[in-house]
Amino acid sequence: MQDPCVISVAITGSIPRKKDNPAIPISVAEQIESTHASYEAGATLVHVHVRDDQENSSSDPERFAAVQEGIRKHCPGMIVQFSTGGRGREPEQRGAMLYLRPDMASLATGSVNFPTTVYENPPGFVRALAATMRDFDIKPEIEIFDLAMLYNTAELVREGLIAAPAHVQFVFGIKNALPARREILAFQVDQLQKILPGATWTAAGIGRHQLEVNHWTLELGGHCRTGLEDNVRWDKGTLAASNAQLVRRVANLCEQYGRAVATPAQARQLLGLPPAA
Ligand code: ZN
Repeated sequence: MQDPCVISVAITGSIPRKKDNPAIPISVAEQIESTHASYEAGATLVHVHVRDDQENSSSDPERFAAVQEGIRKHCPGMIVQFSTGGRGREPEQRGAMLYLRPDMASLATGSVNFPTTVYENPPGFVRALAATMRDFDIKPEIEIFDLAMLYNTAELVREGLIAAPAHVQFVFGIKNALPARREILAFQVDQLQKILPGATWTAAGIGRHQLEVNHWTLELGGHCRTGLEDNVRWDKGTLAASNAQLVRRVANLCEQYGRAVATPAQARQLLGLPPAA
């Protein structure tokens, strides 16, 4: 019997592309509403970026605080994860909201090329961000955009900057980073189990790869991520109607693979987080 599946929903993202799909939640109220609908559809973890009034990616702690407060109020037990992603933010801003003590925060353990930019995560910066998370009792979700980042993670665990068991996410389908290939995921999962025994994992496919990566993940026993940050389409010809619609599709897929959808309490237990306050 495989573990229940933790469904993560990445509701907004950092690329200003509301024009690509008007369903992407931008304001605090929209983000809380979209998260709540996703929670009702089976999501137990929400990955949060916030925007400023011009809809640009922001590090404003007040915005993060407002979104977190709304989610904690309306979605009991849901795991709140803040993004420390780089796009549109200066390095020193990227951890500026961690004092708000979300349950989790994303942490990339190396640099990588994105479609038109470099996602810069120099070694000293990664260590500083990991130490901040450790000090605030925030569990990192390690974002693996390229293979070396997996081994870097094991090194950070060895150094005590990341607590074991770690939780990692394998990301596929970003131009200039790893292509969406099942063999790569299978290899990474195998390596993960060897170098970080007991670690949990999830995977994200960007754009048209979202759904196929969900399939592979369920086959290989991982947790799933969906949401409009990664993919704005339902299928080739149709925009997704909402984050909740994408979550519902993954919840149905879990059933197809004989995986229960984790409850908030189960999700917390599976990822080694304390019960909700
Ligand atoms: Zn993100």
